[in-house]
Amino acid sequence: MEKLNDSYGSPLGLTSQFRFCGNPFRLDFYKFCSFGCKYCFARHIGGQDDFDYSYARFDIIDNLFKKAFETSDETKNYIVELLRHKVPIHIGGLSDPFQPIEFQLKLNYKMIQLSNKYEYPLIFSTKQCDLPDEYFEILNPKLHAFQISLIGADDEWIKKYEDNSPSPTKRIQFLKKLRGKGFWCSIRIQPLIDLDKAIELCDTINGIANYVTIEHLKINTDNPVMKELFKDEINKYKRTSIMRNLELGKDEKIKDIEILKQHLTKTTVGVGDNDLHYLSQSRCCCGIDTIGGPFDNYLKYNLTYFTTEHLGDKKIDEEEFWTPKCNVANCVNGDVRIKNVGDFRDYVDSYCGKFNDFMCDGCSVKNKLNGISFNKKSGQKQKQFSIFDFGDGNEWSISL
Ligand code: SF4
Repeated sequence: MEKLNDSYGSPLGLTSQFRFCGNPFRLDFYKFCSFGCKYCFARHIGGQDDFDYSYARFDIIDNLFKKAFETSDETKNYIVELLRHKVPIHIGGLSDPFQPIEFQLKLNYKMIQLSNKYEYPLIFSTKQCDLPDEYFEILNPKLHAFQISLIGADDEWIKKYEDNSPSPTKRIQFLKKLRGKGFWCSIRIQPLIDLDKAIELCDTINGIANYVTIEHLKINTDNPVMKELFKDEINKYKRTSIMRNLELGKDEKIKDIEILKQHLTKTTVGVGDNDLHYLSQSRCCCGIDTIGGPFDNYLKYNLTYFTTEHLGDKKIDEEEFWTPKCNVANCVNGDVRIKNVGDFRDYVDSYCGKFNDFMCDGCSVKNKLNGISFNKKSGQKQKQFSIFDFGDGNEWSISL
């Protein structure tokens, strides 16, 4: 990696997903990923395809933690606010934190030390199949959790999609090792490409993984590698509201989820498809809400939390809905940015409204849900979101 450099300047921040996701505070020290999965969406947003081998200097993060915890200055930086509230950090949304370069640069090793110093919760997403002993010596099951990405259990089949990452067999051994050491560990089937292969995987890890997140494949039609890779399946995929992506129809996706749930009798299931989060068996589709302890500080003011209201206590404490006060417009992608809007809750409210229109616009799910309605009483201190009938016939509502 001759071009390796330390110019990556924004490793920590919120992703636009905060509108529907409780775990959007992300950290990636590496802007590239040498595992090079063929379906990887991150490769095409400044990842390894443009050979940008940059990584972040550790002092960027160290200084943010110092500002958050060793000063009491007022801040205009939402990152410092999130740190002070100890919102769990998700490491590995854009690149694998434990790809081979980590064991030379040890940036995530230092991050684990930093999280121990400030008792800060971290959740790592990885395809790695083991860690050196020195990592286990500083990892702590109370502060550190893992998600292992795996799309099937078949070592040969997976090579068509991933030819440079550890085999499924080794990743499943790693899952068992982490569980044996007391770490919370989920499996992310993301993307779900082949239902039979996913069933085989679910049968293997049922009752071993703490949680399984399922998210169907999206085919980015701007990406020739993806189009070629999925040329045999592409006819089944349809254009969605996100112009560049093709997806399976909603009914087909729901059927897959129901089948996989039947194979995961001893493991909780989350659904990562943006239109189907409400089918999750917990309040956050990555399962962070099921870990407990310091992870309970995940963000709750979002669509998935609202649409899984039927899973929780009907009475919700206002304090649970903590959100940052600082302007977050910078972390929203240009295509969803609203002119002169920087408030976290305004972005969430706007997204909920659009989702409501989408769900109630003649799609087949409408019949199953009998509609979802978010009624915002604007201009008043109280906002009211009402969510109707998730199968038990009761109306659920949240007053904010
Ligand atoms: S391991 Fe993750 S980030 Fe790395 S190439 Fe594969 S999907 Fe992308």
